[in-house]
This record gives sequence, structure tokens and C-alpha cells, in this order.
Amino acid sequence: SATKERILRQKSLELCDRQQEWQDSPEGQKMLEFRRSLPAYQEREILLKAISKNQVVVISGETGCGKTTQVPQYILESEIEAARGASCNIICTQPRRISAMSVSERVAAERGEQIGESVGYKVRLEGMKGRDTRLLFCTTGVLLRRLLVDRNLRGVSHVIVDEIHERGMNEDFLLIVLKDLLPHRPDLRLILMSATLNAELFSSYFRGAPMLHIPGFTYPVRAHFLENILEMTGYRLTSYNQIDDYGQEKAWKMQKQTLRKRKSQIASAVEDAVEAADFSDYSHRTQESLSCWNPDSIGFNLIEHVLCYICKNERPGAVLVFMTGWEDINTLKDQLQAHPLLGDPSRVLLLACHGSMASSEQRLIFNRPPDGVRKILLATNMAETSITINDVVFVVDCGKAKETSYDALNNTPCLLPTWISKASARQRRGRAGRVQPGDCYHLYPRCVYDAFTDYQLPELLRTPLQSLCLQIKSLQLGGISEFLSKALQPPESLSVQNAIDYLKTIGALDERENLTVLGRHLSMLPVEPKLGKMLILGAIFKCLDPIMTVVAGLSVRDPFLMPYDKKDLAESAKAQFSAREFSDHLAVVRAYEGWKCAERQQSGYEYCWTNFLSAQTLKAIDSLRKQFFYLLKDTGLVDLDKESCNMWSHDQHLVRAIICAGLFPGVCSAVEPEIPYPWLVFNDKVKVNAVFLRDSTAVSDSAMLLFGGRISRGGLDGHLKMLGGYLEFFMKPELANIYLSIKQELDELVLS
Ligand code: ADP
Ligand code: MG
Repeated sequence: SATKERILRQKSLELCDRQQEWQDSPEGQKMLEFRRSLPAYQEREILLKAISKNQVVVISGETGCGKTTQVPQYILESEIEAARGASCNIICTQPRRISAMSVSERVAAERGEQIGESVGYKVRLEGMKGRDTRLLFCTTGVLLRRLLVDRNLRGVSHVIVDEIHERGMNEDFLLIVLKDLLPHRPDLRLILMSATLNAELFSSYFRGAPMLHIPGFTYPVRAHFLENILEMTGYRLTSYNQIDDYGQEKAWKMQKQTLRKRKSQIASAVEDAVEAADFSDYSHRTQESLSCWNPDSIGFNLIEHVLCYICKNERPGAVLVFMTGWEDINTLKDQLQAHPLLGDPSRVLLLACHGSMASSEQRLIFNRPPDGVRKILLATNMAETSITINDVVFVVDCGKAKETSYDALNNTPCLLPTWISKASARQRRGRAGRVQPGDCYHLYPRCVYDAFTDYQLPELLRTPLQSLCLQIKSLQLGGISEFLSKALQPPESLSVQNAIDYLKTIGALDERENLTVLGRHLSMLPVEPKLGKMLILGAIFKCLDPIMTVVAGLSVRDPFLMPYDKKDLAESAKAQFSAREFSDHLAVVRAYEGWKCAERQQSGYEYCWTNFLSAQTLKAIDSLRKQFFYLLKDTGLVDLDKESCNMWSHDQHLVRAIICAGLFPGVCSAVEPEIPYPWLVFNDKVKVNAVFLRDSTAVSDSAMLLFGGRISRGGLDGHLKMLGGYLEFFMKPELANIYLSIKQELDELVLS
């Protein structure tokens, strides 16, 4: 070991020399100058001292002040200076793959090195890390998985958890595990870094760990909401944009009216839009009431128009556009590229920020474009805090984001965009004020902003508990209740217990709370377990086509519109789809299929119009179906080569049975004499003045017997107990035995 120590010392000295050499070179000096201009540099010594004196430190500071790129580097440099350069082992976690990769590259460049020398990264399925890598940037998920096999993080000297203000589920999970680890590893240092000032919460979680703040400065940014944007840019919302399927009707009427004052026209266009979006229950200020106002329906045309306005009328400066997802970014990019001004590369540099950007492309993002060329960046909410582009003067904010996923193992994106919080909107706006006063265009009315929540709820409290419990089991984090009780903000224990009981009932957990095979598959699908179960069984029983529509419909909302003034007409339109079928779910399937058919004949819109369907919802269902298909393909449940062979059975009895399997134990007996089925499975039960069942399907005895309850051998008993009375009453013992054997066979099939 004495030899080993000598070698380490020798290596440390070499590192020290190399660092000095780089800093003395001309490029090195230039880099150093830049680094010293960052606000974090002023605090360097204070930060390092606090880190060496305390096991846990919380650091906060404005985005761009140098937390991510500098703090880990300061630690590395000070270790090198203290001749521990070859023995230190610093891990810095990032919530997203792209930040782990781009930050490591930047830090390596600041140190005059190639990536994979002293600085490296590791994300799922990918990494650049050498034998001498001392500072590793990785995703939070990667560190969590390392903790599964290496509880004590042997050999790690510092763990830096970045962007904790985002309160992602992985980060909250990680903090629980690390908190337990600290007493066993007194030499380990934990550094938490956050953009906004909620440091107290983290500090008190770690028994009053010291908080350090890096002061910063940003210029003021003017906020424009949809009302003034329309007025300012002269955009006629009603002329070529679909606001909502019903807004459109109004829009057409509006167009016919000849309004004298353009101003009042714009005002009423906004009013109409808001009215069409049904803000009648807007006083509730719930996210749900916001779901009616959909910026996607304002469309890319408005974004294009605003960008055009900026390019023609505004002072120089880059534009950052916040979009919800990669798909939207690509669609918009294609549209803009076809535009005479925005698509002209001699005037506009159009860039998209995404996870798998080549480094040359990344450099374009940070570089200033030539004079007279305006840089326009299309990004997701990752540009909110994790990357900082200094020359941004204008921000365009669509108001929505796809929330980070709860699926720690697969890192699959969450499926639906939701409204951001006021804090997020402020953060997005702030991106415009880095170098000079800026302008932010929020593409939604002021009243929509007012209805945003103040802060995003932590993901742990936002994720459905059933899914959360499955995650804890799949990450092998121990007993569910015990683990969750140690969280920064734990969910209520009774709700946790209910979720565990539910998972046992549907056969995702066994009696001892271990994941079953079904449970393992469910934990990999980013949908509620009951919907996941439908998808899995739909794939196994080869009726995925209709089942994907059912599940997508339940995840978004059903596509049937019920305008107040035409309720009767709308109801009879809906009845056509479900006539004699007694199934809301099959009605959605019929409506969707009819729409697809009409779309192929270019008459999708008319189809929606005559049948009181929302084209927007149908489109969302369509896109979810695609995502489901890829997810199932990823988990190996769908074999693409065999796609054509009977994957798509539409046998209604089979489809009903699978719906029954998913919605059980949401079941009641049907007493309505006109329903030829004895049971009704439902998605939801709401109590208003009476109890209402939402989204129900009538099912037969055999479907209930074979598919209701757990589809696992262990669950058979409970299932029988539940249906015991029914069995005794309706079935002769011989029949019950036959049933038992069929059921068992079925279970085997599913388990295998
Ligand atoms: P924070 O984590 O506090 O938000 P960062 O450490 O990410 O700040 O960034 C500090 C500064 O370094 C910012 O001004 C940013 O513009 C700059 N920067 C970060 N990454 C790059 C890069 N790849 N190329 C050029 N500049 C960068
Ligand atoms: Mg950062």
C-alpha cells in the first residue's frame, strides 16, 4: 500500500503540473479569465472552506452564476492542489442526460482536456470515462442504480446533487438514500445546489446544514401576455387559427363581422378564445380548469408570427422559444424553415436544443452568430435552468411543459404536456435578462397565468402513489411505507397504505410486497398501473389496437364534446357510437376509428363537426397511441416483426374482458334491465348528490370470472374469496373447478 500511495502522490503532482501548464497557455489564460468573471468565483474560497468543514452544504445562486460548471471544478482543483488529485472521486448528478453530457464537455474544455481524462460523464447506456477520471457528471438515475450495488459508495469523496430545486422524484429518492448513508461515511461530502431560494428546506432536512448563496444580477424583462401580443404584433387570432373546435365556429362568425376598430376586434378575439376555452369554472383556479386552454391549438402560426415580428421590429439579440417536447420542436422547425424570412440562413440561425446534439451543434448554441443574423433557439424546459445562453434577449413561452417522468429506470418521458407554474414562467422570463433588458412573450392570456400554481409540486407528491410504490420496489429501496416516511415531503401514510393494498389486489405486488412479474412490467410503463395492465394484456391477447385507444382516451379525456346549448344533439351523436354496446370505452374506439378513416379521406374536420368530437383530443389520442406502441416495443411485449399477425383483433368480447382486467376492482353489478350484461366495470366513481360512475363498460360473467381480479396464481384465492358468494350462488361446484383450471392456465400464460 505504500507503493500505491507513492504512485497516487506521483499522479497528483503530475495533475498539478498539467493544470498549471494549461493555465499558463494563452487559451488557458483566456478561459481562466472567463471563469473568473463568473459570480461564483468571488465565493470560491468561502465555498471550499464550508465544504471541507461540513459534511453537507447547500449552495444556491441565479442560473448562470457558475454553480454547475465551476463548483465541481473548484473542488477538483483544490483536491489537486492538496495533492489528493489522484485519490479524490467527485460525482455530480444532473436531472437530464443532456446536461450531464454537455456540462462534462464544457468542464473538460475549461480544463484544456479531452472528455474522459480527468472529467467524464455517464448516462444510461452511454458514457465517457477513463481510468483517471476524477470528476464524473452523471444522471441522478445512474447514481441511484450504482447505489443499488454499492450501498456505501466506496471510494467516492464528494457527491454533488445539482438542480435540487426541480424536486424531481429521482433527486428526492437520492436524498433519502444519501441521508441514510452519511453516518456510515463520515468522510463523504454532500453538496446540494439549487437555482432558486428554497435552501432552508434542504438545510433543515440535513439537520441545519449551512446555506451559501452566490449573489448574481439580471436585467429587468418586460412580460407580454397574449392580449398585448395580439395587439402589438397585429396578429389576427381568428383569421387562420383554430382556437378550439368550438372556438372555430365563433371565429368564423367573427370574421364575417366587420368591426370598425381593430383594437376592439382583437379584444373580442381574446375574449372569444377565453370563452371558447370555457373559463367559466376558472374561479376554481385548478390546473384542471386550465386544461381547456390549449396553446397547441393556437398553433405554431402564432409562434411564427411573433418570431417574425421580433426579427422585423426588434433590436438585435437571440430568441429562446420554450416548447413542450421534441416532436413539437421538429414540427415547428420544419415550418419555420419554409418561411421566407425565418428560413433564410443569411438572416436567421435556427437551432434546436435536444438530448443528442452533436458537440459542434452545441457550440453553435452558445456562440454568437455573425452580425445581422438572428439566433433563434427552440428548446424544452431544460433551457429553464440547466443551460444558460448568454445572448438571449427575447423569450417566447408557450406555457406548457412535459413534466419529468417518474420512471427512474427507463427515463421515459412523461406523456402529456401540462401547464407550468408561476415560478417556471418567471424563470423562463428571466432567461431574457442575462446581458441587457429583455422581452418575454407569454402565449397565453394574463388570466391563464393568474391561474397557474405558485410552484410546481414536487414530483414525488404529484406522481400517482401506485406508480410511486412500484418505482420504490423496482429500485429495491426497501419497504415502501418506511422508505417514503423519510422523504423531504412525505405523502400521507394512509394513502400510501391504500396504494399498496390496491397493488396487491391487482396482482402487481405479492403478499410480502415484492414485485410480481406483472408489477415489474407495470413499473416500466409510465401510465397508471390499471392502464398499464390493460396495455400489457392487450399485447398478450393481441387486441392492442383498440386497447391502446381505450387507454389513450382514459389518459387524456374522451373526445366527445358536450356544448351547453346543444347538449341533446351532442348526446345523441355520442349514442350512435355506443348504441347497444353499453361501453363508454368502445364508443371512444369507434369514434377514433371513424375519425382516422375520415382523416384519410381529408374530411377529419367535418367528421368531428357533425359528430361533436374534439379533433384536438383525437389528435392527442393518436399521438399517445404511438408512444404506447414504442414503449411496449421497448419492453419487448410487442414484436415488431409480427406486427401484422393478429396484433389487432377487434373481437369485442375480448376487448371487454381486457378492459375488465384493467378496471377491476372497480366493478358493480348492473341492474338496468336493458343491459344484457350482469357487470359494469368503471374507471372512476364520483360523489355529487348521488354516486356517478365515469367511463364504464358492461361485461359478461365469463369475462369477469376469467379476467376480473388478479391474474396471478397467488391471487387466485383472494379473487375467489371476493367472487366466492357469486360462485356458490351461480355455479355448480363442477363448473367452479373447470373455471379454476382455466384460470390457472391463464395465469401461467400471463406469468410466462
Ligand atoms: P449555473 O449552474 O449556475 O446555472 P453554469 O455553471 O451552468 O451556471 O454556467 C456558468 C456560465 O458558463 C454561464 O454564463 C454559461 O453561459 C457559461 N457556459 C456554460 N456552458 C457553456 C458552454 N458549453 N459554452 C460556453 N459557455 C458556457
Ligand atoms: Mg446549473
